[in-house]
Amino acid sequence: MRHFVIVGSGPAGFYTAEALEKAYGDQARIDILDRYPVPYGLIRFGVAPDHQSLKAVSKRYDKVAESAGVDFIGNVTVGQDISVAELLELYDAVILATGAPHDRKLGIPGEDLPGVVGSAEFVGWYNGHPEFADLDPFLEGTHAIVVGAGNVALDCARILSKTRHEFEGSDIVGHALDALDHSAIRTITILGRRGPHQIAMTPKELGELGHLEAAVPVVEPADFPPVEADEPLEPGLRKSVALLRGFADLSQDKPKRMVFDFFAKPLRVEGDGKVERIIVERTELDEKGSARGTGETYEVPASLVITAIGYSTSPIPDVPFEGGKFVNESGRIADRLYAVGWARRGPSGTIGTNRPDGYEVAEQIAAALPAGSSGDREGASGLKRLLESRGVMPTDYNDWRKIEETEVSRARPGSPREKFVRHQDWLQVLGR
Ligand code: NAP
Repeated sequence: MRHFVIVGSGPAGFYTAEALEKAYGDQARIDILDRYPVPYGLIRFGVAPDHQSLKAVSKRYDKVAESAGVDFIGNVTVGQDISVAELLELYDAVILATGAPHDRKLGIPGEDLPGVVGSAEFVGWYNGHPEFADLDPFLEGTHAIVVGAGNVALDCARILSKTRHEFEGSDIVGHALDALDHSAIRTITILGRRGPHQIAMTPKELGELGHLEAAVPVVEPADFPPVEADEPLEPGLRKSVALLRGFADLSQDKPKRMVFDFFAKPLRVEGDGKVERIIVERTELDEKGSARGTGETYEVPASLVITAIGYSTSPIPDVPFEGGKFVNESGRIADRLYAVGWARRGPSGTIGTNRPDGYEVAEQIAAALPAGSSGDREGASGLKRLLESRGVMPTDYNDWRKIEETEVSRARPGSPREKFVRHQDWLQVLGR
C-alpha cells in the first residue's frame, strides 16, 4: 500500500487525486488536506458566483472525494499544524496544490491607501472567504477603477455593475449582495497597461458585458489598430478583440458605464487619507510588445480601486519558493515532494488546465513508485495521531456534507446556497 497526501483541495488537488487513484487503484490511499473544513478552493472562493456552470465541475470532485481510496481531511494548516517534513515522514509522496491566494502588488506609491483592495480580497469578500468577510469595500462613491486586463478584472467589474436581479441563481453571499445593491458606483474604469491586442480576457467573459441590465461597456475606437491587424491574431484573441470593437456600437442608455482605458499604466494612487484618484501614464508598445511610458499623464477619479494583476502562492517553511510559486522542475520540487496547479506554474490558465498538470505529476510519482510496490509509511493514521497530540481537530467529507446541507437549507429563493463566511460558523454547524 502507498500513502499520498495532497495539500489543498482546489481543482489542482482534486485532479491529482483522480489521477493517482487511476494509476494505483486500491493500492494507494490518498488524503486531500485543506486548512478549511470546506473543500474546492478556487471553485468555492474564486470562481464568480454568477458563473454557476463553471462551479458545477465540483460534482466531478465530489465523486473523487466519495471514492474508497480518497479522504478529505479539513481544518488542518500545513506549515502551522504540521510541517512538510513531517508529512514526508508519514507519506510516500507529498503534493502541494495550494493555489495562488495572494494578490500581487502594483509596487507604486499610494497603493496602501484605504479604498485600494486586491482582487483576491474583493473576490473573497463576495464569495464568502472567511479572511475577507469584513473587507467592507467602499461603494459609496460614484467611480471605481479595476487595474488589469485579464478575466479576474472582468469578474470584478461585472460584479460591481450587476443589479440584484442579475444575481438570481448565483451563490453570492448575502452581505455582498446587499452592499452591492446599495452601491453608488456608476463608472467602472478598467485600466489596461497595454492595448486591445494584448488583453488576457476571453470571449465568453467579454461577451457577457454586452448584455448587462444596467451597465454598458465603453471603448475608445482610437485605441484599436486598423481592423486588418486583427487577422493574424490567435482565434480566441481575435474573437475577444472583435467583441471589444463591437462595444463601440452599443447604445449608451444605461445608468452604469464600464470604461475600457487602454495604454494606461498606473503611476501612483492619490488621496487625502483614502483613495481619490490614480495618476496614469499613457503608454505605447515597445519593440518587445511591452508597455513603454510616453510621459503623458492624466488622472482617473476613483473612491474604490481593485487591483487584478495576478496572484502568488503562499510560501511554506522549508519549501523552495521564488517568483510567487514553488521552485520545481515539471512539478518536482525535491525527492517525493511535488507541486501542481498554480502553486507549480503560477496563476494562469483555466480550471481545466490543472487536469493535465495533475495527471503529469501522478505519472511521475507512478514511475518512481510503481503500482504494486509497497512502502512502510503510516499515512492518515500517523497524521491523525500527530494532529490529536497538538490539539488539532480535523474534519472529514461527511462534515463538509453537513455544512453544505445547512448552507443549502439557508439559501434565499433561487440561490443554490447561502455560504457561511466565518471559520467558527463552520465549526458550530459541526458542534465543535
Ligand atoms: P491574467 O490573465 O494574468 O491578467 C493579469 C492582467 O494584469 C494582465 O492584463 C496584465 O497585463 C495586468 N498586469 C500585470 N501587472 C500589471 C501592472 N503592474 N500594472 C498594470 N497591469 C498589470 O490574470 P488574472 O486576470 O488574475 O487571471 C488568472 C487566470 O485565471 C487567467 O488564466 C484567467 O484566464 C483565469 N480566469 C478565468 C476565468 C474564466 O474562465 N471565467 C475567470 C477568472 C480568471 P500585461 O499583459 O501587460 O502583463
